Amino acid sequence: MTKYVYSFTEGNRDMKDLLGGKGANLAEMTTLGLPVPPGFTITTEACRAYLAAGEAPETLDVEVTAHLREVEQAMGRRLGDPSDPLLVSVRSGAKFSMPGMMETVLNIGLNDESVEGLAAQSGNDRFAWDSYRRLIQMFGKTVQDIDGDRFADILHKLQADKGYKGDLDMTTADLKHLVEEFKKVVEEETGEAFPQDPRRQMDLAIEAVFRSWNTERARLYRRRERIPNDLGTAVNVCTMVFGNMGETSGTGVCFTRDPSTGHSGVYGDYLVNAQGEDVVAGIRNTLSLADLERLDKKSYDELRSIMVKLETHYRDLCDIEFTIQQGKLWMLQTRVGKRTAAAAFRVATQLVDERLITTDEAVTRVTGDQLTALLFPQFDKAAEKTVVTKGMPASPGAAVGEIVLDNDQAASRVAAGASVILVRRETNPDDLAGMMAASGVLTARGGKTSHAAVVARGMGRCCVVGAEDLVVDEAAGTIHVRSEDLVLKAGDVIAIDGTTGEVFKGDVPVVDSPVMTYISKGLEAALDASPDADTQDLVRSVDRILTRADRRRCLEVRANADNPEDAERARSFGAQGIGLCRTEHMFLGDRRKLIEAVILAETAEERQEAFDALMPLQKSDFIGIFTAMDGLPVTVRLIDPPLHEFLPDLTELSVRLALKAERGEEVTDHERLLLEAVKANHEQNPMLGLRGVRLGLKIKGLFALQIRAIAEAAVECRKRGLDPRPEIMVPLIGSDRELQIVRDEALAIIADVSRESGMELDLPIGNMIELPRAAIRAEQIAEESDFFSFGTNDLTQTAWGFSRDDVEVSFFNEYFTYGIFGISPFETLDIQGVGELVATGVRRGRRGNPNLHCGICGEHGGDPASIHFFDGIGLDYVSCSPFRVPVARLEAGRAAIADRAEATA
Ligand code: PEP
Ligand code: MG
Repeated sequence: MTKYVYSFTEGNRDMKDLLGGKGANLAEMTTLGLPVPPGFTITTEACRAYLAAGEAPETLDVEVTAHLREVEQAMGRRLGDPSDPLLVSVRSGAKFSMPGMMETVLNIGLNDESVEGLAAQSGNDRFAWDSYRRLIQMFGKTVQDIDGDRFADILHKLQADKGYKGDLDMTTADLKHLVEEFKKVVEEETGEAFPQDPRRQMDLAIEAVFRSWNTERARLYRRRERIPNDLGTAVNVCTMVFGNMGETSGTGVCFTRDPSTGHSGVYGDYLVNAQGEDVVAGIRNTLSLADLERLDKKSYDELRSIMVKLETHYRDLCDIEFTIQQGKLWMLQTRVGKRTAAAAFRVATQLVDERLITTDEAVTRVTGDQLTALLFPQFDKAAEKTVVTKGMPASPGAAVGEIVLDNDQAASRVAAGASVILVRRETNPDDLAGMMAASGVLTARGGKTSHAAVVARGMGRCCVVGAEDLVVDEAAGTIHVRSEDLVLKAGDVIAIDGTTGEVFKGDVPVVDSPVMTYISKGLEAALDASPDADTQDLVRSVDRILTRADRRRCLEVRANADNPEDAERARSFGAQGIGLCRTEHMFLGDRRKLIEAVILAETAEERQEAFDALMPLQKSDFIGIFTAMDGLPVTVRLIDPPLHEFLPDLTELSVRLALKAERGEEVTDHERLLLEAVKANHEQNPMLGLRGVRLGLKIKGLFALQIRAIAEAAVECRKRGLDPRPEIMVPLIGSDRELQIVRDEALAIIADVSRESGMELDLPIGNMIELPRAAIRAEQIAEESDFFSFGTNDLTQTAWGFSRDDVEVSFFNEYFTYGIFGISPFETLDIQGVGELVATGVRRGRRGNPNLHCGICGEHGGDPASIHFFDGIGLDYVSCSPFRVPVARLEAGRAAIADRAEATA
């Protein structure tokens, strides 16, 4: 028979899956001998059974009875006994903390009779009636779904009528009156009297906590925090202790170190004569722990000693909820406390210095997301700001600048020394120049993996997307903020926060991140730049942890970069090479005409002419990148995107030529030819059409040009005394034969260049794995290949049949709501599906070529959860955008340490 209930004496802190965080820690504290009021925990499994069946399992009832009796015996009182009642609290507690998202009911067991018993036993009428009115209020709201304002309004009216300043002014008579009024509300709203049977109160409260798992706000919270929807919550039933029993009672929360700065020392708030919910609700101003020391030295000393005990036991910063009932301290909750990113790093190294944890453990105590938060420039928190609207935060950071609505304007304003925010309805590849010039990008449409978002993240550019409140009128040069009925013009200054998605009107001051200075310029430079001791301590902590992560990690970290500036930046951030150098950007802008000429060429000679013009340009691109990455590998991917990306838009061109014809203007041969080419290259599904290796096989000479440019650039670099290490990568391979053809051609060209230059060139030739077929046929493909790089962007598209640019805005919201996935598979690798393809590809690939080097270069290369998976399946490297390199270094270190810990466990 399934066991649904555990006494606090039975569980421990490792049972969070079953007992929830709160229950597991209450059990741990009980075992440690700390003063925890007796109680028991109903498992998450019971919650799941309740939610599935719509009613509690019958055996749960029976188990609850047995455990309740145990508590009654321990306390020498019965639940709701009219003369001396035991009262209990019923609290939610899921595996992951979801503060304020689910329900709690206190003072269960009070009714019209036991309230008198409580009054007599405590000798405190006021306390007893205050507890009873609280029960009816909380029970009505959370269990019976009565609008909380109905109770709050009555309470506020009473206080206003009597001229009271707060709830402590209420007399016993006032509280009795409130009880009567509250009971009337319950009867009006439910058609029944407030339940008087104590056990029924408890059972209904337990079910209400189960149900609160699925409230709208709880679901929303889980989605934001990436907590799975199917975990369920545990329910803790705990003997009530009272902080509202007069001046020698009170309730508080405290931390063993400061969770916002990481300073060591104790921090906390205390409220005299109050119950737990008063602290959270901020009803009255709280006192500090120093005040508690003054008021009740004995309890304070005991609390301090428990804080040391808990921190030593958990070996981490703990947060604690406690209550003092008439001078007796009780522990109501503890957990490893949440903290800011800066505090996380500082506390981790403090604990190492105190010899409480090892440096390896310190690495596991911080996350890539926390490091990210420390890397981006931030708005000055103290500054005044006016929020005008909010979009989706797509790439973190803080940017301030003039509104510009097109690329030319962006370039010219930046050339004139201005800082600009590029605001577009949505962006497309043509906006790259504008995005590079701008300090930030704001779009009215698109999701987190829309073009703007992906490109901005890649560039480390602050970006907010999908601000649907905005109507961008490029022709008029205005943005209309609908909700505010506010019109902003090009040139007006706005600020955007890529971490929150907020858009502000006017200037907001930005402060630099010292950790960024450390990452890009080193420890000494960062220490010099920030003289204050706290910042120096933070920078030193980051340095110690990152240095250890680098020592421990098995995965190499490379960067995705396609120009010398990005390559240099990546290198300064610690990249060990370039894992993806996309070459298509090298054919845009002024060079687009040359690709157009390749496409329009009618004869082999004409095409060769265009190639000849492109050759020196390509070669100099590569020389620049190989120079920046001297001595490190650079994986150059041959051209990938469909041709239409290099040609004018079909509709635009057709309309332009039709208008010309109508006006009697001459349409040139070139224009006619161009229109024909655009029509011929038009595809219904370009992402699944003529692109990648297919393009290379169809347009003869295109790959050859690139391969020769790579080889000749390598020769040139060597002549300059450098050590270039290019690798040639073929995109969108689906069959070994495709690769074989390109490889043979490449080997011939490389041999040619070697002969011509007299320099032996041995360039690895490999391919991307972006199609399910490639993963399945990896063994055969690997026989032709020196390395695989998993393109998990395309692999996600092709495995799910999703078009990356369309699906996010069109139906992902519904998919989140249905729980089909908790997070976009374009952000975090879909481990069960796409991950399985990657693992299969690696395994089979190494069967075909035992020396096969394997990496990943999709967006997931910089995603913490995905990196742990890649480490686990034995990839050699991850490649991500330069700004993600430090995060990937840290996460790869964490993954390796976790794997080792698992192996020795
Ligand atoms: C990929 O598909 O994962 C990849 C890196 O290629 P791209 O994003 O350029 O299609
Ligand atoms: Mg791809």
